Amino acid sequence: MYDVNKIREDFPILGRLVYDRPLVYLDNGATTQKPSCVVETIAHEYFSCNANVHRGVHYLSQKATELHEASREVVRLFINAKSTNEIIFTSGTTGSINLVATTFGQEFLEEGDEIIVSTMEHHSNIVPWQLLEMSKGVKVKVIPITEQGELDFEAFENLISNRTKLVSVAHISNVLGTVNPIKRIIDRAHQEDIPVLIDGAQAAPHTPIDVQELNADFYVFSAHKVYGPTGVGVLYGKEEWLDKLPPYQGGGEMIQHVSFSGTTFNELPFKFEAGTPNFVGTTGMAKALEYVQSLGLENIAQHEDELLSYATKRLNEIDGLRIYGEAKDKSGVISFLVNDIHPFDLGTLLDRLGIAVRTGHHCAQPLMEYYGIEGTVRASFALYNTKEEVDSLVDGLNKVLKMF
Ligand code: PLP
Repeated sequence: MYDVNKIREDFPILGRLVYDRPLVYLDNGATTQKPSCVVETIAHEYFSCNANVHRGVHYLSQKATELHEASREVVRLFINAKSTNEIIFTSGTTGSINLVATTFGQEFLEEGDEIIVSTMEHHSNIVPWQLLEMSKGVKVKVIPITEQGELDFEAFENLISNRTKLVSVAHISNVLGTVNPIKRIIDRAHQEDIPVLIDGAQAAPHTPIDVQELNADFYVFSAHKVYGPTGVGVLYGKEEWLDKLPPYQGGGEMIQHVSFSGTTFNELPFKFEAGTPNFVGTTGMAKALEYVQSLGLENIAQHEDELLSYATKRLNEIDGLRIYGEAKDKSGVISFLVNDIHPFDLGTLLDRLGIAVRTGHHCAQPLMEYYGIEGTVRASFALYNTKEEVDSLVDGLNKVLKMF
């Protein structure tokens, strides 16, 4: 039995007031709130065993190292990777994609090679590839979408050529909520021996992930969108790929031996982890993933699906409201506009009612360009949101609209 009111007690911030009104937090696509257990775990590590990891022989350093490496195992289990060698700790989704783009580009790309992304990508899954256009002369090709916000699979197949070296697409769109058919995309790309990177930033909080079943070559996500701390995230890569990629940044931990006559590099996963890692962050992330698993990702998905259906129905009752993103397979994100009212105006007035939504282009300007709009208002749901909060959003919108 999914008891959302009980679950909300785990998130102290949800009880606060904003402008003397109860907070209605619907900006979870940007970042999620943190349960007490995550914040307490982080505080506990700082208070009880803070010490730099890996190289210390002393007690605290060993304790911190144990926690850090145990977190890698928690992440491995969370996405069902084969080995912890395939789990690289990064600063987040953006850090992970830049790591792959830079190292893959260095090792495998030449002028004229092609990378396929889609129209609905976050800038983090566009710009790293565009940097390779500039530095290497590769070409970024773009899978078009339909008006409903679904990927055009046939068009994707037509984009594949003998110069295609990598496909990089979002599992779930942060604007449209579209759940992309990533298994089908991976299988199709693999028919041509093309590796696939999946941007799972919006999927990790909402849906079970099994990288082995998906057969993804790379899968990336950020802790802060899965109820964990900021500044830490994951790059999953198949060992066979990670082995072939050169180191990314140089520094401590990623080396085996340093000499001015030649330096050798550490084994996986440390080869890609230069410098002091965010070891308290990884412990916090692991706690967050365990928290999510204790509730059950299927249960969370079902709860959020109910919120999505309810919110879609209620928002559609508002005259002049248009929802962007009507894919058949959709996750708990609703982007919308009302008549020609600027999204900033709607967002600012909703904020005064204690309702936090995101407005603007959501770091997906090419998608905005496709729809011919500057931005949208976006409500994105998390495991702790309620139907009453959806009602508050709708009531708030109705109040705000009376002012126009
Ligand atoms: N990709 C998607 C689909 C996202 O939604 C986001 C953040 O909103 C990112 C990438 C970037 O994530 P981060 O800023 O945590 O690196």
